[in-house]
Amino acid sequence: MFKFYKKHIDFVTENAVNPDQRRYAVKEEAPRHFIDLDNYADSLRKKLPTYSWKEVTEKISEDTLNRHGIVPWHINFMKFQLTEAFRKRDVRRILMLSADIGHYIADANVPLHTTRNYNGQLTNQVGIHGFWESRLPELFSDNYDFFVGQAEYIKTPQKRAWQAVLGANAALDSVLVFERELTAQFSEDKKFGFDERNGITTKNYSKDFSERYHAMLKNQVERQMRASIKMVGDFWLTCWIDAGQPDLAALLNYQPTKAEKEADEEEKKSWLRRVFDVRKEGDN
Ligand SMILES: [Zn+2]
Repeated sequence: MFKFYKKHIDFVTENAVNPDQRRYAVKEEAPRHFIDLDNYADSLRKKLPTYSWKEVTEKISEDTLNRHGIVPWHINFMKFQLTEAFRKRDVRRILMLSADIGHYIADANVPLHTTRNYNGQLTNQVGIHGFWESRLPELFSDNYDFFVGQAEYIKTPQKRAWQAVLGANAALDSVLVFERELTAQFSEDKKFGFDERNGITTKNYSKDFSERYHAMLKNQVERQMRASIKMVGDFWLTCWIDAGQPDLAALLNYQPTKAEKEADEEEKKSWLRRVFDVRKEGDN
């Protein structure tokens, strides 16, 4: 498996952003990236992780579920699809779905993907989404340790997806509270600075503010990224094992054909049409 993914790392990397790019063109897409746990009363929220998709749709309307996000169920759904792709030895689908599931798993590990207050808009902290998930890694991830050890088989994928979501949600308080505490110590002109990128000047959280916040979070961003990485590997491995461990050496030399490349480009172009006005989260 290591060889297989190493060989196709560029393909997977390029396609890992597809789910975000589909959100405005594919109606079902947006809810797959988050879950507003605070939308549900305590008693119901505690039960959610025990419900399969079928069970939960018997209790809550699909409309409501979609409005408040379905990421943990969707990860499980992707798990079935990726297993199927391995079973069919459909290398193209294996790679596409590996990229997709990696995206949803990473989203599930982001604290702000587990709340209605996903961009701090309810607490006067607008911009915190991109600050946490883009600005901080851009500034500091060079020093993160991304070696997480061997992948492990997951016995209950649905449970594992929920563990991630609940773990991310447990980190949410610090994300919001520390930003608020720090903001109280900074004047507006010290909190924000101006960056120049490709000749365009943009307002962003200042280096000083980012450094202080990052220190207060005590490796939280790194921890969540490491959790994502480990979980992605675990899911890939699990799908492959559940598919009967097909020989991947035979799939090593796959390269998209000209027709496939053109079809991909066509599809990606179609995502640019912004048909749906969906939740924007951070900067995207
Ligand atoms: Zn996403």
